[in-house]
Amino acid sequence: MRIGHGYDVHQFAEGRPLVLGGVHIEHSVGLAGHSDADVLTHALMDALLSAARLGDIGELFPDTDSSFKNICSLTLLERVYEAITHAGFEIVDIDLTLALQEPKIAPYKTEIKATLAKHLRLKPEHIGFKATTTEGLGFVGKKEGAEAWAVVLLDDCLKSSN
Ligand code: MG
Repeated sequence: MRIGHGYDVHQFAEGRPLVLGGVHIEHSVGLAGHSDADVLTHALMDALLSAARLGDIGELFPDTDSSFKNICSLTLLERVYEAITHAGFEIVDIDLTLALQEPKIAPYKTEIKATLAKHLRLKPEHIGFKATTTEGLGFVGKKEGAEAWAVVLLDDCLKSSN
């Protein structure tokens, strides 16, 4: 078994879509970034890559590469899935935490879990996901940005050289 942890932050900006876990969220502002700035999916990808010891998303998808501009992070998640599968790993379980002051994420939770599960060929019950505010504290509380953490467990049973 291998564990991986991922963390990401993106800043809110006018005129940007808000995409979290591959799901478009209704809100007055979105997250800024080179890709679609899906902070939750970015944390998840870093956790998966870290567990498989395959580097991080900055190495795989550098923001100096124009082909990744505004790219849907689910497309990148598919590539991460292929990379870890090719390396002989199977995803066992995922747990995600998202911190943002607004909007409320509860109405989107089921869709976010289903979307991520579909792209990772998992059952939704293998993805834990919760969203929290920071009670008005810090940059999240001031509505300046959102942050996300991901923990994953991989099984290396398919890996040839353990
Ligand atoms: Mg990011």
